[in-house]
Amino acid sequence: MILRGRTRPHGGAGADMQGDAVRGAHIAVFNVPMHGHVLPTLAVVGELVERGHRVSYAVTADFADQVRAAGGEPVLYEVPPSGEASEDMTHMVTEVLGLNMLALSQLEPQFAHDRPDLVLYDVYAWMGPLLAARWGVPVVQLAPTHLPYEGLVQEFFGVDEISQIPGHSELAAAVAEFGVPGGVHALTLAPPRTIAFFPRTFQRRPETVRGRDAHGVGPAISDRSFQGSWQAPKGGRPVVYVSLGSQFNRRPEFYRSCRDAFDGMGWHVVMSVGAEVAERGIGPLPQGFEVHASVPQLDVLAASSVFVTHGGMGSAMEAFALGVPVVAVPQMAEQRVNATCIAELGLGLYLPPEQADSASLREAVLTAADDQSIAAAVAALRREIMEAGGASAAADVVEKTLTEAPSVSF
Ligand code: UDP
Repeated sequence: MILRGRTRPHGGAGADMQGDAVRGAHIAVFNVPMHGHVLPTLAVVGELVERGHRVSYAVTADFADQVRAAGGEPVLYEVPPSGEASEDMTHMVTEVLGLNMLALSQLEPQFAHDRPDLVLYDVYAWMGPLLAARWGVPVVQLAPTHLPYEGLVQEFFGVDEISQIPGHSELAAAVAEFGVPGGVHALTLAPPRTIAFFPRTFQRRPETVRGRDAHGVGPAISDRSFQGSWQAPKGGRPVVYVSLGSQFNRRPEFYRSCRDAFDGMGWHVVMSVGAEVAERGIGPLPQGFEVHASVPQLDVLAASSVFVTHGGMGSAMEAFALGVPVVAVPQMAEQRVNATCIAELGLGLYLPPEQADSASLREAVLTAADDQSIAAAVAALRREIMEAGGASAAADVVEKTLTEAPSVSF
């Protein structure tokens, strides 16, 4: 792989810089053990490996097979099992901070004799940039959610200032200890370079995202055969797909409302309800309904006419990449922001959970399926996603960073 660009070897451990080429770098990805954070990164891992780089991937054992399937080498840390995620995102941050501290002490020794040339890190995987600062290697943030915009702290966390989020002072102390230039602000609100897994149009209040080197590459979608496969039944009936994602999915009453809503519509109904609800079931199912703990979502979306979703960024982007309009029933603050963007951009409907009874769900799905302006908005965003470049554009950003490292290291 020959990369044309400026050459400024940064003295990293293994990357081979010759003339204007960079090849064979060791890239470390740091992530939290959450599907919505790991899945968007896998195509980037695959692309980097295909270009001749080596990718180490720090995550928990639950995700090791996915990382291997993408071509990365898992570097594992252990954390106690978590229960259902908190809908209050300040609690989530506290939990994630504890996880980072546990992971940090386990990961530092594992990389001691195998330091990376560059660190890629999820927005909540602060252990990545902390270690990068200690190692003096460049970083690129991977964002599966909105870039910090004016109002994010209030809308996501319900507080006025980021310093009011519990755990902020602990994070600031770790940042000081590891010597991250720019302090906690550089780590949370102003990272030097970001790859965002959605196109610019979907960014909340883009006009207030300033002075950042951000690359909206869209969802990086690649082979997910490690999830198995799914095919629509023969007969050509329209398919509606229902999922509340991987975090806030213990909602049997909601699934029963969906069942009652879509019964008798003549559609095929696929529901992904999470392991707990799937084990107990949601009661009797009419003909033409499938209920699963989880599904290969891209396969199901490819056959769907409408997606009833919690509006997680990953799910929403996958739907639009495949041209599927959505009915967003958000379960927490971040998803309410996404649902607001969906409604404002005309990509589907925003149905607050307290209004999502069976009559409203049915009406919303029929509207999303038939409305020509929604179809046009989805088609336009789909085009933007195709042009955003996905994993290939993300790998270009990584390679560019390798050649001009000093300007983007902390
Ligand atoms: N997903 C999947 N199968 C399922 C449910 C979800 O593959 O049955 C994937 C989905 O494709 C997406 C991710 O899990 O990539 C969920 O991420 P999202 O950001 O939508 O929501 P979260 O789970 O983080 O709330």
